[in-house]
Amino acid sequence: MKFYPYWWEDYKPYHFQNCSINNQTYDLVIIGAGYTGICAAQESVSKNLKTLLIDQNALGEGASTRSAGMVSGGLNFGKKVDLFKEYGDQMAVDFIKESIDSYRFLEDRVNGYHSEVKFQKTGRLVLAHSKKKLEALRKKIDLLNRLTNLKLDFLKNIDHEISNDYYKGGMLVHDAASIHPSLFYKFLLDKALNCKLDIFSPCKLLSHKKIENYHIVNTTEGIVKTKFLLFATNGYSEKEIGKENYNIIGVPSYIAVTNEIGTEAISKVMPKLRMYSDTKNDLFYFRPTPDHKRLLFGAFPVWAYQKESSRFVESFFYKNISRILPSLNNFKINYIWGGKVGVTFNTLPHVKNEKNKLYVFGCNGSGVALMPYLGYKSISLITKKTNSPIIITKINSKKNYFKKIISFLLPVLGIYYRKKEEIENKFF
Ligand SMILES: Cc1cc2nc3c(=O)[nH]c(=O)nc-3n(C[C@H](O)[C@H](O)[C@H](O)COP(=O)(O)OP(=O)(O)OC[C@H]3O[C@@H](n4cnc5c(N)ncnc54)[C@H](O)[C@@H]3O)c2cc1C
Repeated sequence: MKFYPYWWEDYKPYHFQNCSINNQTYDLVIIGAGYTGICAAQESVSKNLKTLLIDQNALGEGASTRSAGMVSGGLNFGKKVDLFKEYGDQMAVDFIKESIDSYRFLEDRVNGYHSEVKFQKTGRLVLAHSKKKLEALRKKIDLLNRLTNLKLDFLKNIDHEISNDYYKGGMLVHDAASIHPSLFYKFLLDKALNCKLDIFSPCKLLSHKKIENYHIVNTTEGIVKTKFLLFATNGYSEKEIGKENYNIIGVPSYIAVTNEIGTEAISKVMPKLRMYSDTKNDLFYFRPTPDHKRLLFGAFPVWAYQKESSRFVESFFYKNISRILPSLNNFKINYIWGGKVGVTFNTLPHVKNEKNKLYVFGCNGSGVALMPYLGYKSISLITKKTNSPIIITKINSKKNYFKKIISFLLPVLGIYYRKKEEIENKFF
């Protein structure tokens, strides 16, 4: 069994430095070199800003090379809040449309490079775990089809889609795809390495303060002066970034990848070879690997934090894969790994410029398309030159100073949802 991402067999995050940073002055320093940071850095250099990108770990070692690589836009935006009630119809639609734009942005970026990043237009099936949730999906489909160009289908019968009797129906999203997350990261990184960008990894932000027109940034590699500071730390945000860290919490999610069970067996279980997720809070998400020979299965056993290599985690995955996809037999688990999903307290992304400090985070589990787009777009908050301002900046953020206690209680919350949703599956 391997306890690192399956994706790292093709691109493994590495340390890299192309500069010395102590006592240097920059226009922009970016903290965090995931999709957000790397896209912000590239755009910043293209606007002639002297830019430094740092990460406390290897390049891409955060969530960006650990995800399931399921790509969509618009779909999960404000999944847990009523955007329409909170922001009114027009703004809610604008937010959703911007999230759809992020999917188009990714499609444009990888156009011509599909085999390099293993981009496949697969569609996505969101599966209802109860009849009540199926009805909620139907309403969502009506609303989104009326207001956006998402073109969603309501599927009452999913027999031809998935070999399973756990789910009650689903929502089919045609404009959705799969990607190899770490090859996509490498693709973005290679572009960034070709421009005049200073990079230092590993280098951790320790603290920062503003003196006159500059931020003085204290890092493990020395002190740096900068006009602008951008935090692209997402689920790995801690107190070093300042008070905004109370907007976001890193929720651990885990992924298992099976042994090679073969295209035939995989196609039997999921003939359309799509991306799949469900309506539970105790979410399951799964997909075939790009070669269609293995199953990738993700979940939120939050209690398993830093216990990836324990037998409990392995048996958790065995049990749930067998329960959800019972016709898949004789499989083994070859890989298990975890990563932190950046969940904000209002479950919406957070983009703002406050006194030349930019915050770009809060993927809430759907960041493969959204975060590169927001990273890229956020530079317009510095240059102030854009024909299409970021609408997402209009989202009100919500801080929670009990973040530490909530992190501690997450496993209990996880167990509560598991039990509740098991009952919903059987009786509602
Ligand atoms: C298990 C898992 C599955 C997922 N599946 C999907 C999916 O299928 N589809 C989808 O759309 N999204 C998915 N996501 C979410 C997606 O991966 C993220 O939204 C995206 O990668 C976030 O990119 P980012 O650059 O904002 O953050 P990250 O890639 O997490 O980068 C943040 C970086 O900040 C660095 N950092 C933090 N603090 C400091 C500091 N003090 N000093 C220096 N560096 C610092 C960290 O080391 C880290 O590298 C998943 C996430 C996880 C964890």
